Amino acid sequence: MKQEYIFIGPPGSGKGTQTKKLSEEYKLPHIDTGALLREEIASGSDEGKLADSFISKGNLVPLNLVANIIKNRLKKDDCQNGFILDGYPRSTEQALALDDILAEIDKDSDTKPIVFYFKIDEELLIERLVNRISCKDCGEIYNLKTMNIQGNKCPKCGGELIRRNDDTEEVAKKRFDTYFRETAPLIDLYQKRGWLTTLDASLEIETIYKNLKGAIKGNVHS
Ligand code: AMP
Repeated sequence: MKQEYIFIGPPGSGKGTQTKKLSEEYKLPHIDTGALLREEIASGSDEGKLADSFISKGNLVPLNLVANIIKNRLKKDDCQNGFILDGYPRSTEQALALDDILAEIDKDSDTKPIVFYFKIDEELLIERLVNRISCKDCGEIYNLKTMNIQGNKCPKCGGELIRRNDDTEEVAKKRFDTYFRETAPLIDLYQKRGWLTTLDASLEIETIYKNLKGAIKGNVHS
C-alpha cells in the first residue's frame, strides 16, 4: 500500500524534525517545499528569483510555480511507494491543486493521504524560529537556546551551521500571519474529509515521534 503523508502546522512547530526522522526510518522521500524553493533560489534560475521575492517577505510563492515543482518531484521513481509532504499544501487552492496532481499520479490506486496537523500554542514559536539554526549539508535543525552548540559546525556531520534569511523576527511574524490566513483553513477541509490526525506538537521530540508512528500503524484518523 502506498504511503502518502502530509504535514500541516505553523512555522517552527517541528514538522521538519519529525518528517526527517520518519523519512529515514520509513525510507520514504521527504519533500520539503521550502527547501526545494531555497535550492531553486541558490541555482539562480528565473523561478528562483521570483520565489525569493515572495519568501523574503514571508508570503507564499505563486500557486503554479510550487505546483510544478511538486508535480515533477512526485513523479520521480523514489515516490512510487509513497512520500512525505512537508510544507505543501499551504492554502485551499494548493490543496485542490494537490488533489489534481494525486488524481493523475495515483490513477490506478485509491490511496488516501493521512494529514498530520501539528497543534501547538503559537506564542513560543517566534522565539523558537529566531533561535533556529540548521546544517547546510545534512539539514539537521538545532535550537541555540536549548542546545549547547559550540562554533558553527554541525555536531552530527561537521557541516556549516547557517541561519535562514527568513528566520528574523519581522519576517517570522509575517509568516505567521500568512499561516493563519492561508494554511489554517486546511485543518477544517481535511477534517471534513476524514483525513486529519492531530498531534500535540508541544511534547518532547521523541514523544511526538512515538505518537506519530502509533497513528500511522493504527491508520487512525481522529
Ligand atoms: P518553510 O521552509 O517551510 O518555512 O518555507 C519557507 C518559505 O517558502 C515560506 O515562508 C514560503 O514563502 C515559501 N513556501 C514554502 N512552501 C510553500 C508552499 N507550499 N507554497 C508557497 N510558498 C511556500
